[in-house]
Parts: sequence; C-alpha cells; structure tokens
Amino acid sequence: MAYPFTHPDYVLVDELLSDENKIVRSAVRDWVNRSVIPVIDEAAHQHHFPRHFTRELGEIGAFGPFIPVEYGGAGLDHIAYGVIMTELERGDSAIRSAASVQTSLVMYPIYEFGSEEQKRKYLPKLATGELIGCFGLTEPNHGSDPGGMETRFKDMGDHYLLNGAKMWITNSAIADVGVVWAKDESGVVRGLIVEKGMPGFTAPETYHKWSLRASVTGEMVFEDVKVPKENLLPNIKGLKGPLMCLNSARYGIAWGAVGSAMDCYNTALQYSLERKQFKKPIASYQLQQKKLAEMLTEITKAQLLIWRVGVLKNEGKATPAQISMAKRNNVEMALRVARESRQVLGAMGITGDFPIMRHMMNLESVITYEGTHDVHLLITGADITGISAFA
Ligand SMILES: Cc1cc2nc3c(=O)[nH]c(=O)nc-3n(C[C@H](O)[C@H](O)[C@H](O)COP(=O)(O)OP(=O)(O)OC[C@H]3O[C@@H](n4cnc5c(N)ncnc54)[C@H](O)[C@@H]3O)c2cc1C
Repeated sequence: MAYPFTHPDYVLVDELLSDENKIVRSAVRDWVNRSVIPVIDEAAHQHHFPRHFTRELGEIGAFGPFIPVEYGGAGLDHIAYGVIMTELERGDSAIRSAASVQTSLVMYPIYEFGSEEQKRKYLPKLATGELIGCFGLTEPNHGSDPGGMETRFKDMGDHYLLNGAKMWITNSAIADVGVVWAKDESGVVRGLIVEKGMPGFTAPETYHKWSLRASVTGEMVFEDVKVPKENLLPNIKGLKGPLMCLNSARYGIAWGAVGSAMDCYNTALQYSLERKQFKKPIASYQLQQKKLAEMLTEITKAQLLIWRVGVLKNEGKATPAQISMAKRNNVEMALRVARESRQVLGAMGITGDFPIMRHMMNLESVITYEGTHDVHLLITGADITGISAFA
C-alpha cells in the first residue's frame, strides 16, 4: 500500500521553480502515480524492468529533456531535468536510472561529442524510447579508476576492432546502442557507438541483485567486434568525455535521491499519524517526532542545495566538485531518511506493502554508482585543498 503523495516543501522551494518546471513535474508525477506505483513492487520482486516503460518515458519527455528540440529533445532547462528525476525516483530508482542513462550517458555524449550524422541517426529515436541506450565505462578491474581501463580498439583501415569487457552496465542486456569508452592504440580514451547484433558483441544480464531489482544490469563483452569508423565520437578525446557525462548524470541523481527521501518521509508521517500504540498515535511521541523533524530538515537542505546547483548549471557555472557534493550529500541523506522511516513503520517497514525497504535497497546502489560516496568526498577534499588524496 502506498499513501497518496504529499510533496514536502517546508521552505517553499516551489516558489523558486518556473511555471514550466511545475507543468513538467506535474505530468511526470501523474505518470508515476498512474503507471509506476501500482506495479513497481511486483516488478522489483520479479527482478524485472517493465519494458513498456521505455516508450512511456519517451512520451512524457523523460529522455533528453535538455537536448534541443531539433534532435528530438524537449529543449528544457536543467531544473526541469532535475524535477523529472525527482519524480521518477519517487517511483523507483530503477526508473530514474533508466532515464538518467538514456539522457546523460547516451544522448548527451552523442549530442555533445557526436557528428551531425550521429546526432540525426540516434537522438530522435533515443528521445522517443524507440532505441534504448547504455553507457560502458566500468570494467571488472576498474571502477573508481576508469583511466586504467583495459578495453581497446585498433585501427584496421576500414573499421576498428574492439576487444575488452565492461561490467555493471545499466540496460546493457536490453540496449540497442551503447556508448563505449575504450583506449586507442596510443592509449587515448575515445567513445564508440556499439550496436546490438554486431558480431562478437554480447551483453549477458547480471542477476541476484538485492538492489535496483527493477533495473536491468549487465556486462558488455567485446571479442574482435568490427566497429564502423563512422561510429567513433569525433569531438572528444580523453577521460574528460566520460567524466562530463557522469557529471550530468550525477546532477540528475542528486535531484532523484530527494524523490526517494520524500516518498519515505511521506510514508513515515502518514503511518505515524494512523498507527496507535499505548492508545495514542505513535506520531505523538517525542522520539518519533524527532525522526520526522530531522528527516524533513535534511530533505529541505537537500532540496535547496540541488536547486542552487541547478541554477548554476543553467548559467553554465556549476562545477564538477559542486555536483559531487550534491550527489554525495543527497544520496546519503536519502539513505538515512529511508532507514529512519523504516523504523517508524516497525515491522510493517520491512514489507513490500510500503515503498521504504525498496527505496533503501535501491539507494545502496545509488550511493556507489556514478562515483562512490567516498570518492565524492575526496573530490570535495581535492577541490578545497588543491591536493588529490585519491589518485
Ligand atoms: C546497479 C549498478 C548500475 C551501474 N551502472 C553503470 C553503468 O551504466 N555504466 C558504468 O560504466 N558503470 C555502472 N556502474 C558501476 C559503478 O559506477 C561502479 O560500481 C562505481 O564506479 C564503483 O566502482 P567499483 O564498484 O568497482 O568499486 P571500487 O572502485 O572497487 O571501490 C570499492 C571501494 O573502494 C573505495 N575506493 C576506491 N578508490 C579509492 C581511493 N582512491 N581512496 C579511497 N577509497 C577508494 C570506494 O569508495 C569503494 O568504497 C553501476 C553499478 C551498479 C551497482
């Protein structure tokens, strides 16, 4: 059972949003309430991503909202992208992950680093969900240090020959196209667009996850894959390419995590008002009020932080380190809110009748992917001291 959603907005952050932002959010909120909430618990139990969501996400404009209209995007600002991510993650982090990957890790690099032909060929179909994309950076031996990647390609004259393996790739098993990062013969990281069905390319799914169960995760294995030369992203060289994509995705995650937290808090508040022990609602006890008050305080701080980073992003001024701070803070905040909310519900908190445990398990992935919690702290440390403690 899920309580009707009431958006916590203690310091009226809504007044800082444009009308367009609110219209977009309302459309996505309706879709999440109508299509995601009724089925997501069962989908997570079944370890299944409902495939019809892909087209519907395209229809509500969740794929590439900030990509220009001429390439199939919605041409919206970065705060619109953020509020969409919040609503999707309120439904489930898996749904937000699908939209994050498609938007920030597939459409964004093709738009930013691709040729005109690549943009016209892929972006409109990715925007509608006709094509599903994935992003291959992490490898079995290289997670936090992607610069050590072992996946390589050779110039064979009329094509490239790609060899290597990627791991933990969202949507790899169902993707039609993948933006894959690999080193050329001189060791420079480049982006290649790999398509499903290319001989030598396989993408086995990873099962038995306790987290993000409604998201498809898998490998990408390349054994002498012939990649046409026109599939190289021409306008980027080096690790800066994938890092710019991650920056965009992390920004969306920082908004998204607020959605999980709001859903957990809303559930805990409603439950505590209804549930009676010792003849009184548990919400009347100080210890439960402390939990609720602290949760709302933390949600409010996270809302303000990411709104401000969003304004800076719209102005082209948001730094990667600011985004790291927001991602790290907001995901940890959401995890703490999920854990506190779970306690407010007592035993009921562990059931699938309420969304809290599912959010909590999902957030254990969200706190690790797109840069771990620790690495983001070290990015902040490096930014304020000028000394990198991690590389
Ligand atoms: C569900 C899911 C989906 C994912 N989707 C994608 C995807 O679509 N595409 C993709 O490319 N990747 C994806 N990832 C991979 C994800 O980005 C990596 O898991 C993440 O970057 C961390 O890498 P790792 O798991 O290898 O951990 P490691 O890098 O091995 O880190 C292990 C621990 O060591 C710590 N650590 C590492 N280096 C340092 C250091 N220098 N100083 C201090 N501590 C350090 C880390 O903080 C962490 O706690 C996904 C992961 C998950 C779980």
